[in-house]
Amino acid sequence: MSDDIFSKIAQGEIEVPLVDSNEYAVAFADINPQAPVHLLVIPKKKFLNVTELAADSTYMQAVMSLAVSAASKAGLTNGYRLVFNTGQDGGQTVPYVHCHVLGGRSLTWPPG
Ligand code: AMP
Repeated sequence: MSDDIFSKIAQGEIEVPLVDSNEYAVAFADINPQAPVHLLVIPKKKFLNVTELAADSTYMQAVMSLAVSAASKAGLTNGYRLVFNTGQDGGQTVPYVHCHVLGGRSLTWPPG
């Protein structure tokens, strides 16, 4: 059993309010929001990063469709951004794949 924070959330060891869910993935609020709406979508099964996730079409599809559904439920009708920080250069800090759903303001580009 993994002891990282997202494994504990996915396994229900740490309870967080779920914004949305489907058979294979859950969506919840980021603890340190970088936009008025900042959600995280994680698969219920652990993958280290999006490279691993992309090799599993069932879970990849589930994460992407839940990200879109969660954005809609959060009222992001004017657009939003989906981000998978990946590896050291990508700024990934939690070794469990997660899709950031950001919106609720006009987001700048490029990211830092
Ligand atoms: P990343 O830097 O892409 O790996 O993103 C990790 C994200 O997880 C950050 O935006 C953190 O704020 C968020 N985070 C860390 N711990 C928790 C937690 N317990 N609940 C919700 N979000 C968390």
